[in-house]
Amino acid sequence: MRIAWDDLFARERQRFDLRHCCEDCGQFDRRAAVCAHGFPTQGHRQADYEAEPTDILFCKEFELC
Ligand code: SF4
Repeated sequence: MRIAWDDLFARERQRFDLRHCCEDCGQFDRRAAVCAHGFPTQGHRQADYEAEPTDILFCKEFELC
Protein backbone atom coordinates (compact mmCIF):
# COMPACT_ATOMS: atom_id res chain seq x y z
CA MET A 1 0.00 0.00 0.00
CA ARG A 2 1.41 3.35 -1.01
CA ILE A 3 0.35 6.61 0.63
CA ALA A 4 1.62 10.15 0.33
CA TRP A 5 4.24 11.33 2.80
CA ASP A 6 3.09 14.38 4.72
CA ASP A 7 4.21 16.43 7.70
CA LEU A 8 1.61 14.90 10.03
CA PHE A 9 2.81 11.39 9.31
CA ALA A 10 6.43 12.48 9.68
CA ARG A 11 5.71 13.98 13.11
CA GLU A 12 3.67 10.99 14.30
CA ARG A 13 6.26 8.56 12.98
CA GLN A 14 8.82 10.25 15.20
CA ARG A 15 6.52 10.88 18.17
CA PHE A 16 5.21 7.30 18.39
CA ASP A 17 8.39 5.66 17.10
CA LEU A 18 6.38 3.99 14.35
CA ARG A 19 7.97 1.00 12.66
CA HIS A 20 7.23 0.01 9.08
CA CYS A 21 10.55 -0.90 7.49
CA CYS A 22 12.03 -4.30 6.72
CA GLU A 23 14.70 -3.86 9.40
CA ASP A 24 11.92 -4.02 12.04
CA CYS A 25 10.08 -6.91 10.42
CA GLY A 26 10.31 -10.51 11.64
CA GLN A 27 10.55 -11.69 8.04
CA PHE A 28 13.73 -9.77 7.34
CA ASP A 29 16.94 -11.81 7.13
CA ARG A 30 19.53 -9.34 8.40
CA ARG A 31 22.55 -11.43 7.40
CA ALA A 32 21.48 -11.70 3.79
CA ALA A 33 19.57 -8.38 3.83
CA VAL A 34 16.62 -9.98 2.08
CA CYS A 35 13.00 -10.75 2.82
CA ALA A 36 12.43 -14.36 3.95
CA HIS A 37 9.30 -14.42 1.78
CA GLY A 38 11.32 -13.35 -1.23
CA PHE A 39 9.46 -10.06 -1.56
CA PRO A 40 11.30 -7.08 -3.01
CA THR A 41 12.49 -4.80 -0.19
CA GLN A 42 13.00 -1.70 -2.29
CA GLY A 43 10.85 1.06 -0.87
CA HIS A 44 10.52 -0.70 2.49
CA ARG A 45 14.06 -0.23 3.80
CA GLN A 46 15.04 2.36 6.42
CA ALA A 47 17.47 3.93 3.98
CA ASP A 48 14.53 4.74 1.73
CA TYR A 49 13.24 7.10 4.45
CA GLU A 50 16.43 8.84 5.51
CA ALA A 51 15.82 11.66 3.10
CA GLU A 52 12.26 12.99 3.06
CA PRO A 53 10.41 10.74 0.59
CA THR A 54 7.38 11.73 -1.46
CA ASP A 55 5.41 8.67 -0.41
CA ILE A 56 5.45 5.67 1.92
CA LEU A 57 5.27 2.10 0.76
CA PHE A 58 3.74 -0.18 3.41
CA CYS A 59 4.20 -3.93 3.17
CA LYS A 60 1.09 -5.91 4.03
CA GLU A 61 3.27 -8.77 5.29
CA PHE A 62 5.10 -6.61 7.82
CA GLU A 63 5.43 -8.38 11.18
CA LEU A 64 6.84 -6.38 14.04
CA CYS A 65 9.65 -8.29 15.71
S1 SF4 B 1 7.57 -9.05 4.74
FE1 SF4 B 1 7.62 -7.00 3.81
S2 SF4 B 1 8.37 -5.66 5.44
FE2 SF4 B 1 8.85 -7.77 6.02
S3 SF4 B 1 10.94 -8.12 5.26
FE3 SF4 B 1 9.51 -8.81 3.70
S4 SF4 B 1 9.27 -7.07 2.31
FE4 SF4 B 1 10.13 -6.30 4.22
